[in-house]
Amino acid sequence: MHNRDWLDRSRAAVWHPCTQMKQHEADVLPLVPVARGEGAWLYDYEGRRYLDAISSWWVNLFGHANPRINAAIKDQLERLEHVILAGFTHAPVVELSERLATLTRNALGHCFYASDGSSAVEIALKMSFHYWRNNGRAEKNRFVSVAGSYHGETLGTLSVGDVALYKDAYAPLLRQATAVPSPDARAAKPGETATDVAARAAAALETYLAEFHESLAAFIVEPLVQGAGGMAMHDPHYLRLARALCDRYGVHLICDEIMVGFGRTGTLFAYEQAGIRPDFLCLSKGLTGGYLPLSVVMTTDEVYATFYDDLVTRGFLHSHSYTGNPLACRAALATLAIFAEDDVLARNRRFAKRFCVLLAPLAKHPLVRHLRTCGMIWALDVDTQDPGFRLRFYREALSREVLLRPLGTTVYFMPPYILDEEEAALLAERTLAALDAACA
Ligand code: PMP
Repeated sequence: MHNRDWLDRSRAAVWHPCTQMKQHEADVLPLVPVARGEGAWLYDYEGRRYLDAISSWWVNLFGHANPRINAAIKDQLERLEHVILAGFTHAPVVELSERLATLTRNALGHCFYASDGSSAVEIALKMSFHYWRNNGRAEKNRFVSVAGSYHGETLGTLSVGDVALYKDAYAPLLRQATAVPSPDARAAKPGETATDVAARAAAALETYLAEFHESLAAFIVEPLVQGAGGMAMHDPHYLRLARALCDRYGVHLICDEIMVGFGRTGTLFAYEQAGIRPDFLCLSKGLTGGYLPLSVVMTTDEVYATFYDDLVTRGFLHSHSYTGNPLACRAALATLAIFAEDDVLARNRRFAKRFCVLLAPLAKHPLVRHLRTCGMIWALDVDTQDPGFRLRFYREALSREVLLRPLGTTVYFMPPYILDEEEAALLAERTLAALDAACA
């Protein structure tokens, strides 16, 4: 098999996500057929390789073809591939739910599963509203989110999201939600710290909550890093203040940790850095180490108790066919075992320190602005007005064996947690070369 065979067949039969397909036709955007993966590398059919510096859309934590996760899935495959989770249960879903609850220090003891991040956010929104409805407060049916936030692609999640590129075309289909100012630390005025920006943004949230809390079910936020909106980072102080405001005004706090969960920001969950707990925690992506589609919404005993009743319709009747799939749950258990056995967070801290040093030449590049980092995420803004930058940079990076997909003019790294020194150095050097080539 050659690359070309798959390219033509894929273009004819597969409608690729997040893509204007015509760009593939004209080869403006190269379509890369991947034959296999190993560690941080993807290999095509003709011997070319690509360093997966974005963990395949932020899902892959411990590399492709990870022997430990592979073994867990193979073992599970011999026992039970899937079973309906309504009326039935199985060891992987029970063990995973117990393990996740422990990781939240039992603050969030109830796990509701789905298959992708958007569905998890939908569930959290529905659960929050339904909680208020069960409490005789059905008028609390609106949501407030943060400017520039991203929570998924379904109609409910686009409604609370604020990225025009994905949202605008569907505006007539969406429910009105309000976005309050972002605590994005780049908005600091001269003399202001990130904490000051956080306090300013929280004050705007307070103004909104004070006026509208009677009709609000929940405030939804991407803790510490707003991802698809451009890797905007904020001080944990914002989350502390938001938690206090949600308590004061009787509004749920939904933490969408679909991107930032599982060590991405330095702690296992990002909310930990603010010393708070959310009412709903949405997780997906890294949950299975990037192996299988699985998401979960975790919530408190108090929320759970509101649904626990003789009346069927007070229950949460939401369902997806593949809820709690055993193979996906086993992949998740194997992923969490790696965290426990390998002291991953400590290794990541050492890696992050080193990678910051390796990125120093990039930080000095005349077109680079706001090089920023949080845990295992690095981002920088390129000072260019060129609308072709994104695709040109993508191509230049690919031609240097590196997979990076800028968000507009924001270049970011979200590598798997397994890069060695040589791979890290290669990534830093080739990114700089790709930037020079793309801006030449
Ligand atoms: N929320 C956040 C913060 C995300 O980053 C994403 C995915 N990029 C989603 C929700 C949606 O997840 P999915 O793509 O699995 O539906």
